[in-house]
Amino acid sequence: MKSIYIGIDIGASYIKYGFGSTVNGLDFFESCENRNTDQISLYETLIRIINKLALEHLNNRKIAAIGLGSPGIIDKISGMIISNCPNMKYWVGSKPGQILEEKFSIPVILENDADLMTYGEQRLTHRHHKTVLGVTIGTGIGCGLVSNGSIYHSNYRSALELGHTIIVDDGKLCSCGKKGCLEAYSSAASIMKRMKDETGRAFSLDDILMKYYQNQIVFTDVVNDAFNKLSQAIANTIMVLGVNIVVIGGGITESKFFDITTLAGKISRYLDRFSLDDISIESAALKNKAAVWGGITIAENYMENQPH
Ligand SMILES: [Zn+2]
Repeated sequence: MKSIYIGIDIGASYIKYGFGSTVNGLDFFESCENRNTDQISLYETLIRIINKLALEHLNNRKIAAIGLGSPGIIDKISGMIISNCPNMKYWVGSKPGQILEEKFSIPVILENDADLMTYGEQRLTHRHHKTVLGVTIGTGIGCGLVSNGSIYHSNYRSALELGHTIIVDDGKLCSCGKKGCLEAYSSAASIMKRMKDETGRAFSLDDILMKYYQNQIVFTDVVNDAFNKLSQAIANTIMVLGVNIVVIGGGITESKFFDITTLAGKISRYLDRFSLDDISIESAALKNKAAVWGGITIAENYMENQPH
């Protein structure tokens, strides 16, 4: 029986999922809105998704393992979501890997969602680069690093919490409780909130980016400020880590008006000539499927490394 790997990407707004393998590609991909407000209902949604994939789509193929992406800091020993999950606060304290593994008797590899996006891009799009930095811009701002082919994990608690680095002293209140975090200025959700605060009207992200490129005042003020802060933070991270490839993903890249060259140009302004020489800043080639692909490939990699 052929083995299939499932990838699930839990986001604050949407849950994306699919299955496939690196040999056969992505056989199935779908997403649903995440309207859950507590752990039990989110578990029910995840169980329904896995059952649906198994019953309706697998056609006698066996699920070998599941790669699961979640927002928040994950304690690698206990498998618990321990903190920094400000857009899904109810999820802190859960152990989704363990719960789903017990329910389905299948190995579940749990990783941070930005880490999985970065891993998917490194494994499928940038195989010739062993080290890739990934930044996701959506409801929040996530960041992941694949170093020498593996996801970088801290031995302590969190790592690469770019969205919650301080960019303004005593600045805007962030959903994490701190003031002045990058995420409070530059996430897609924060850009939309800032435009509403400035104009008293709600605009979609598409509208905001379109009006930004039309040079409409107020839109250019807010988006330039958001992109400049984001670019400073990304350039600082490039300088600290010495990476030469950065992949930008997340909800903002799904807007038809998002232009990676604007952001790449701004990031380059903050780099020195040594970093500029060989830096490549790209949109996630796998688009909104990158973290699902990351889940599939990490599940596959996990099984390949098990003793037979
Ligand atoms: Zn924060």
